[in-house]
Amino acid sequence: MTELTSMNRRDLQAKATHLDERYHAFKAQRLALDMTRGKPCAEQLDLSLGLLDCLRHNDYRAADGSDCRNYGGLEGLPEARQLFADFLEVDPSEVIVGGNSSLTMMHDTISQALLRGMPGGSGPWRTLPAVKFVCPSPGYDRHFAICQHLGIDMITVDMTAEGPDMEQVERLVAGDESLKGIWCVPKYSNPTGITFSEAVVERLARMRTAAPDFRILWDNAYTVHHLTDTPDRLANLLAAAKAAGNPDRVLLFGSTSKISFAGAGLAAMAGSVANIRHIKAGLAIQTIGPDKLNQLRHVRFFRDMAGIETHMQKHAAILRPKFATVEDVLTRELGGTGVATWSRPRGGYFISLDTLDGCAKAVVAMAADAGVHLTHAGATFPYGRDPRDRNIRLAPSMPSPNDIRQAMELVSVCIQRVSVAKLLTN
Ligand code: PLP
Repeated sequence: MTELTSMNRRDLQAKATHLDERYHAFKAQRLALDMTRGKPCAEQLDLSLGLLDCLRHNDYRAADGSDCRNYGGLEGLPEARQLFADFLEVDPSEVIVGGNSSLTMMHDTISQALLRGMPGGSGPWRTLPAVKFVCPSPGYDRHFAICQHLGIDMITVDMTAEGPDMEQVERLVAGDESLKGIWCVPKYSNPTGITFSEAVVERLARMRTAAPDFRILWDNAYTVHHLTDTPDRLANLLAAAKAAGNPDRVLLFGSTSKISFAGAGLAAMAGSVANIRHIKAGLAIQTIGPDKLNQLRHVRFFRDMAGIETHMQKHAAILRPKFATVEDVLTRELGGTGVATWSRPRGGYFISLDTLDGCAKAVVAMAADAGVHLTHAGATFPYGRDPRDRNIRLAPSMPSPNDIRQAMELVSVCIQRVSVAKLLTN
């Protein structure tokens, strides 16, 4: 493939005509394809149908004898806490197992910090002149939405292949006590797919923060979502923070949303005993206890981490061909053109694609006009503003491989069309 960026004007014009023809042929097909959100497909959800009938009529007691049908058990069943302790690589006493959404737990944790403060701090964050979070970007749009919704200012730092740019992070958090937190999706990150290196984990655990109640929100949503047979290994942040003398800095989150049912799974959070005590005190006002029957169901169905890992291999078998289709089409259509780069994730749910600067919005709009819906451009940055207007998040889990092929062919045509137009006006 010839680099579009080094073509002369006449060749670019010929290319533009050819791309227009292809685009209009796609448009005539009246496609209706959705690659916006990382939802599991029905075939993936079917893998967990056993959850619906794994509890017999007389099976409602937890290991400690408690009746899961009744109120109570604020921190979750002992066996569910054990399962998530293994999942998050912490001690069961450091875990709270909740309802179906880890995002709810993250939202509530920050709301509570605004209302009541955090251990180690000097009171409710809402009483401070400003509260800010560090937002490595591209990142997860719903993290940024929580901050925006709660009035927390977002400071963007770059994501590198090893995690957040730690030079930037260290400088910011050491110099500004209104910086109270950082969002991290440390494994198979949303959307770039990278796993934080050991050095980055160590620096996060050790860095000097001006705010004594600074928190790392460690959203380990994709910890077992491997796409290869040689999983990435993520260093243990809570252990590193303890070793560095900062045990309260870390709040870990995870869920089975993309393991069992996205709408009816289990979520959990973990942290130092002081953090967990504090969170539980707030939780005790909010609820008399979580859905423990669903916790019991998950324990019966998966049993242990080995059960989860085996189950995740079945997910990978469904997802791998979909990711491979995106890679194949992008390589065939855009390889060597010089107008796009994209991630080759080893796990997780997303592919992160960068166009030439200033092209992403136009590409997403053009694709939508021909019936292919992508996550809106800018979503992966705070306030929905990608300063270079180049990042597009692709979510291939939901559509069929055939739909993905069509969608990605159209998206590739749109990328080239927008890029050629840009090159012709330069
Ligand atoms: N965290 C990340 C990084 C995600 O990508 C998602 C879903 O896309 C979630 C959390 C949502 O988790 P939950 O369903 O447990 O609220």
